[in-house]
Amino acid sequence: MWMVGAVLTSRLKTMTQQTNEELSQTIQKLRRFIENRVGKAIGDYKMIEDGDTVMVCLSGGKDSYTLLDVLLALRKRAPIDFRIIAMNLDQKQPGFPADVLPNYLAKLGVEHRIVTQDTYSIVKQKVPEGKTTCSLCSRLRRGIIYKTAKELGANKIALGHHRDDIVHTLFLNMLFGGKLKAMPPKLVTDNGDYMVIRPLAYVSEEDIARYARGVGFPIIPCNLCGTQENLQRQKVREMMADWDRRYPGRTESVMTAIQNVVPSHLGDRNLFDFESLQLGDPEAAGGGDIAFDSESYDSDSCETPGANASDQPQVINFGQPPGR
Ligand code: SF4
Repeated sequence: MWMVGAVLTSRLKTMTQQTNEELSQTIQKLRRFIENRVGKAIGDYKMIEDGDTVMVCLSGGKDSYTLLDVLLALRKRAPIDFRIIAMNLDQKQPGFPADVLPNYLAKLGVEHRIVTQDTYSIVKQKVPEGKTTCSLCSRLRRGIIYKTAKELGANKIALGHHRDDIVHTLFLNMLFGGKLKAMPPKLVTDNGDYMVIRPLAYVSEEDIARYARGVGFPIIPCNLCGTQENLQRQKVREMMADWDRRYPGRTESVMTAIQNVVPSHLGDRNLFDFESLQLGDPEAAGGGDIAFDSESYDSDSCETPGANASDQPQVINFGQPPGR
């Protein structure tokens, strides 16, 4: 496993020597595109406000590297002041190259905190062989993240989940959990103390992967714990990839649907008062009465807000501080 660390260290040297000008035109264009989409998501959901301290969780994967990179770039152009602190949890998985992230962050000059806690051994001890370890592992990790946010005085916790993660979670919940529920761009933690934000909510995994390859982030493999990706998630991922191959734009369309909900045309009695529905109430028609018509769709008409983000730098619509 020492090979992984050696390769990553040499990639890190090359990467931190790279200036903006040395990145290819295509990658620079892609960076601006991703920045615009992230800026749009931040503005739409008021994810970051003046005076915030944002703790960015960095795993060493392509998503969190991209998240940190883009947030640092946007902070330079933002009309508000906020603090960014990168945080990595070294869970003592076998072969984890512990020096890669501290070196990367030190070279970038980013404020950061590396937390070392051997959750790997705890999980191995407690979970019987052959059973999935992710749920205990995530619970332990969540507790450590909250504790670190408290120590750092952070009020926002930024995670690297992207558009495809959100869409896949929706299908997982529908197909296996009987719930119409995805992964929100912004939510309050279960202890009520922090706001979790997902600034990559409008960015596709494909764009992130291309960008990460272009920049050459020193990616740390994500299978060090030896656990395979959850089988159901893998199936949903394959299903959406297949749909996107056959009918391009479907993942984008589902993301649009998540932002465009019509409770009167679902069946949740807690969200819509079906019992009190009266004749002569056209408002209640919601998305329109199509009971007697068949729906037709223009396959190009579904676009996520921000999908038109150009590759030209734009004014980022951050939440403005009062009085500005
Ligand atoms: S894949 Fe490994 S590190 Fe990730 S949550 Fe599961 S057990 Fe933990």
